[in-house]
Amino acid sequence: MPPKKYSKKKLASFKKSIEAKLDDVEHDLDDIKENLDHNTRGTASMSQDSVYSVHMADAGTDSYEREKGYHFMNRETDYYKYLTKALERIADGTFGICGICEELIPEERMMEVPNATKCVQCKENDKLNI
Ligand SMILES: [Zn+2]
Repeated sequence: MPPKKYSKKKLASFKKSIEAKLDDVEHDLDDIKENLDHNTRGTASMSQDSVYSVHMADAGTDSYEREKGYHFMNRETDYYKYLTKALERIADGTFGICGICEELIPEERMMEVPNATKCVQCKENDKLNI
C-alpha cells in the first residue's frame, strides 16, 4: 500500500505554488487598497465648485466602483486566509489527506483547491447526507 502522505518533495512544490499565489494576492490587495484610498481622497479633497459640477451619473459610477473594490478586497482577503491555511496544513502534515476516509487527495485537486480537506468521493457523500 502506498503511504497516505505526500512526499517532502511534493509538499515543497505545493508550498512553492501556494506561496506564489499568496504573492499575487498580496499584490492585488495592494492595488485595490491604493485604488480605494485614491478614490476616497479624491472625493474628500473636492472643492465645493467641483462637487457641483460632478454629474450624478459619475458619482454613481464612483461609488459603484468603490463597492466593487471592497467586494473584491473581501474576496481576495478570504482567498489569502485560505491559502495561509493550506500552508499550515503542509506544516502540520495534514495537507492533501482526506479528513474522512484518510486517503490521499489527488494532486490535481490539491493544485486547484489547495485548501481541500476532503476527497471528491467524500465530498459527494457529504452532499447526499445533507
Ligand atoms: Zn475521502
